[in-house]
Amino acid sequence: MSQPLIRVENLKVHFPVRRGLPWQRRTEWVKAVDGLSFSIQPGETLGLVGESGCGKSTTGRAILQLEQPTAGDVYFEDTELTTSKSESLRRQRQKMQMIFQDPYASLNPRMTVGSIVGEPMAVHKLAQGQEKRDRVHHILDTVGLSPQHYHRYPHEFSGGQRQRVVIARALAADPDFIVGDEPIAALDVSIQAQVVNLLQSLQQEFGLTYLFIAHDLSVVRHIADRVAVMYLGKLMELADRVSLYEDPLHPYTQALLSAVPIPDPKLEAKRERIILQGDVPSPLHPPKGCCFHTRCPAVMPECRQDPEPAFREVRPGHHVACHLVD
Ligand code: SF4
Repeated sequence: MSQPLIRVENLKVHFPVRRGLPWQRRTEWVKAVDGLSFSIQPGETLGLVGESGCGKSTTGRAILQLEQPTAGDVYFEDTELTTSKSESLRRQRQKMQMIFQDPYASLNPRMTVGSIVGEPMAVHKLAQGQEKRDRVHHILDTVGLSPQHYHRYPHEFSGGQRQRVVIARALAADPDFIVGDEPIAALDVSIQAQVVNLLQSLQQEFGLTYLFIAHDLSVVRHIADRVAVMYLGKLMELADRVSLYEDPLHPYTQALLSAVPIPDPKLEAKRERIILQGDVPSPLHPPKGCCFHTRCPAVMPECRQDPEPAFREVRPGHHVACHLVD
């Protein structure tokens, strides 16, 4: 295996919450991301899935250093980012871009598409003047927009077109790595497949590496090479796509997959849903032992006790955190 493009080691992002009366203030910690370790190979797409609030987006933001990690290391190739000085970080950031969920909120309504897409080229001193304009035209064409859109404003576009502008802006920085934070969740279902296909063809053309964050497992199945499942800030399972979808080992993954409709009507008729009881516990007070034990259909007495199950490789490339596979 080649050297990973991205390597995350024991990443933690804890947010302070102040509680109590002013003279009795105490600080508690929301453990949004709590000890993640994984890597992403060049040209690979890692899908990161889980219910909302499980820490997926915070993980993506912490990798790009848009969120300051509380602990742990993030490597981009050989460079450790959490301790990088600002100039070195700025250079690495050019190579790492983010596509946000909401194309309405992530575009400045007062800027034309030409200036939005040209801005990263100016910031990172990649091109200027006519060369910049030519490159913007080329990128607009690459993402399926017309060079005539150059002088238009975001409000003149549909949701799908706006997301293409967001993708064009990310490409303008000439990145190696893109974090897609639910990049199709806000789009009409009819448009979602087009944007997924676009992301796949751009990956082929430019050799991009993706962290694709989503709650929809059927979409991740189309795009991801490997899939990581998160719950309450921790990784529950990580495996290649085929192993994870055909032979999930963790009860939480099994429950998530049981909710995904199957296109084949015969198999769909036999699909058995696993309904999880209760709500996701607060990340302020995660359960001790296995953090999933309050909702796990297979819970055992040892699951309620520390230590929590270790996240470990149980088959080649297949990692899971569950006492059932001890
Ligand atoms: Fe369920 Fe126990 Fe496995 Fe946690 S360790 S997922 S509670 S069986």
